[in-house]
Amino acid sequence: MRIDRKTTLTAALLVLGWAAVSVDGGPGVRAASTSGQVSDTHVFDEVAPGVYFAAGTGALNVASNAMVVVNEEDVVVVDSHITPDAARALIQSVKAVSAKPIRYLINSHFHFDHAHGNQAFPEGVEIIGHEYTRERLLGNVLDEPTYRVIGSPPAQRKIIAALESQLDGATGKARESLQLRIAALERHVKALGEVRPTPPTITLKHKMTLFRGSREIRILHLGRAHTGGDVVVYLPAEKILFTGDLFYDGPPYLGDSFPEEFVAALERLKAIEFETIVPGHGPLVRDPRKIGVRQDYIRRYRSEVSALRKQGLSAEEAAARLSFAGFGHYPGLESRNRGTVGLEIRRMYQELEGKRVSAR
Ligand SMILES: [Zn+2]
Repeated sequence: MRIDRKTTLTAALLVLGWAAVSVDGGPGVRAASTSGQVSDTHVFDEVAPGVYFAAGTGALNVASNAMVVVNEEDVVVVDSHITPDAARALIQSVKAVSAKPIRYLINSHFHFDHAHGNQAFPEGVEIIGHEYTRERLLGNVLDEPTYRVIGSPPAQRKIIAALESQLDGATGKARESLQLRIAALERHVKALGEVRPTPPTITLKHKMTLFRGSREIRILHLGRAHTGGDVVVYLPAEKILFTGDLFYDGPPYLGDSFPEEFVAALERLKAIEFETIVPGHGPLVRDPRKIGVRQDYIRRYRSEVSALRKQGLSAEEAAARLSFAGFGHYPGLESRNRGTVGLEIRRMYQELEGKRVSAR
């Protein structure tokens, strides 16, 4: 995880909490490591027999991690990346570790960087997600603020322009790396044109368990948190937990969140007996104390925003004024994109004002 990259670039690339749309070293992307590389596009780390942590190599913008679970008769995939283009590369990469058919795709939540590859999975693959995830993906997600500000083609073109403006001063390897990133992002923008949000075909409200041969796969909703319908995928025998954006080692995107309930959901996450977390972004996590760091970050953020509101500032003014300087939870917070911060603060204002936020 690169936390020392140039500030301007970080600001441009920070998306749903992390640098999920970066193409060279942001979470979900592991250009530096070739161990476990199964294709040009993917590295698969086998975290238990038949259970793979799937991340991108940087050749293609996949934007988020996936998990691949190979069972006796079939394969279960968790999360579908950011575009059908990225999902097709994931499906192709799965063939390098198993000839068995993919039977289920599970969506951790509705956000574009985890679910906009859904349509690439072949007919017959059932998509499992929370009922809220289905509701949102049936709605007009391509017109909503999170996608418009962060994921849309115009937002991505701004990032390309920022990278291009750095080309002039860059030479040698740095220039080469910039060019590769620009090429991957240009392919990404083209791929965005193909996206047709595709909802789960099977939904759950609280809990569902798949028994695939001897494999037990639990899908659990721990309460509203990063969105209204996050689920985690828990393998109790292997003590592996896929957490999507409910938890990874970095600041969460809060623009579609339920901040107060988020802290409580993380408390429930702590109670699950796990050894390895496969997060939605970034590297594997084995230290459970990091969940507490995320809780502290959300509490601190809420209390700062609440104080600014009490001073009479509008959400927009608060977004310009808020300083992350004293937070100390994660490095690089000061350079977070202010457009993204604005979406988060608007959301917290809604919560503080007691507006009904249940539907969105
Ligand atoms: Zn998300």
